[in-house]
Amino acid sequence: SSWFSGVQMGPPDAILGITEAFKKDKNEKKINLGAGTYRDDNGNPFVLPSVRKAEEKIMAKKMNKEYAPISGIPEFTDLAIKIALGDDSPNLQKKSNATVQAISGTGSLRIGAAFLSKFWPGGKDIYMPSPTWGNHVPVFVHSGMTPKTYRYYDPKTCGFDFNGCMEDIRKIPAKSVILLHACAHNPTGVDPKPEQWREMCEVIKEKQLYPFFDMAYQGFASGNCEKDAFAVRLFEKEGHQFCLAQSFAKNMGLYGERAGAFSVICQDKEEAERVMSQVKILIRPMYSNPPIHGARIVTEILSDPELKKQWLVDVKQMADRIISIRKTLKDTLVKLGSQRSWDHITDQIGMFCYTGMTPENVARLTKEYSIYLTKDGRISMAGVTTKNVEHLACGMHAVTK
Ligand code: PMP
Repeated sequence: SSWFSGVQMGPPDAILGITEAFKKDKNEKKINLGAGTYRDDNGNPFVLPSVRKAEEKIMAKKMNKEYAPISGIPEFTDLAIKIALGDDSPNLQKKSNATVQAISGTGSLRIGAAFLSKFWPGGKDIYMPSPTWGNHVPVFVHSGMTPKTYRYYDPKTCGFDFNGCMEDIRKIPAKSVILLHACAHNPTGVDPKPEQWREMCEVIKEKQLYPFFDMAYQGFASGNCEKDAFAVRLFEKEGHQFCLAQSFAKNMGLYGERAGAFSVICQDKEEAERVMSQVKILIRPMYSNPPIHGARIVTEILSDPELKKQWLVDVKQMADRIISIRKTLKDTLVKLGSQRSWDHITDQIGMFCYTGMTPENVARLTKEYSIYLTKDGRISMAGVTTKNVEHLACGMHAVTK
């Protein structure tokens, strides 16, 4: 027998499993709405024009392939945190941020989880919205934190359960960590309104909770990077200390390049230096130092005013396509005579729409219409185009009648 005869087969990844089933389907009208990657209106992957230009510039420079420092490319980390906190961030002025480059958003969360697991002086529970991105739970469990939940989504309205959320936050023991999606909540597409963020910000401070922001979609939600950073900047302005995981996978379309950043916003520069030294000690045995190409692209774009301008146009183009296809989907459902309210399709924002369809609805949609999505009824809006929206609406109407 073998050393590993006791290893049992694990379950397939929920989302990658959907793509496998989709690939096998022979129906010409099949649609894959599982994975959260942007597609253009022809259903093709999209490389941003600003990214293409940045790559040309990088190629022309004939740069070497030396290792980046453990904490990543310094220009990249400076630019990354600056786009999050804004040009006049008080913390950046006093250099009280400890920012490292990490392996996209997931890696940033993982480093953050490891840091808090080792150094957070309070309880090791982390309170997450219910539901949250499927990977949040294992990322934090792997690092020794214990995931707990607070109410977030209201199935009755397919919207934000503000009262439930506030009630639950008030009950969280002091000195716990609370995970917040900065914008474009995944999987629900439901975000608090600015005045609701203000109240959450206040209670979180009053209750002495520590915010961990996951910002995977800055700019991708509304099309405006400043607007999408509202919550993070509000918490900064209100004097919170917090940590932040950033990803450039969506807003720059750099999925496989794995460009992200993790920051701890500290009390002062001296504390930030101590924190930074420990974060580097955590990174070194995990992967030594991060990949360089994606970070170079981000650096090129954010440091060149012309390219940055182009990028802001590119992000807006992606966000606008999604916002507009949401409207088309809703209008088509109405046109087909659906009696349900589909307002949440346009009220929600970002990559995903939590449709309110049941697992039974979803199973029929897949079986009878070859439309692939997760059981929770989440559709990736990025996979919806002017060409397939009619087929999708027909299917959704038929299975929800
Ligand atoms: N957080 C959330 C909420 C996400 O939706 C995602 C991407 N699906 C990520 C983090 C991380 O993605 P990546 O590692 O590709 O940057």
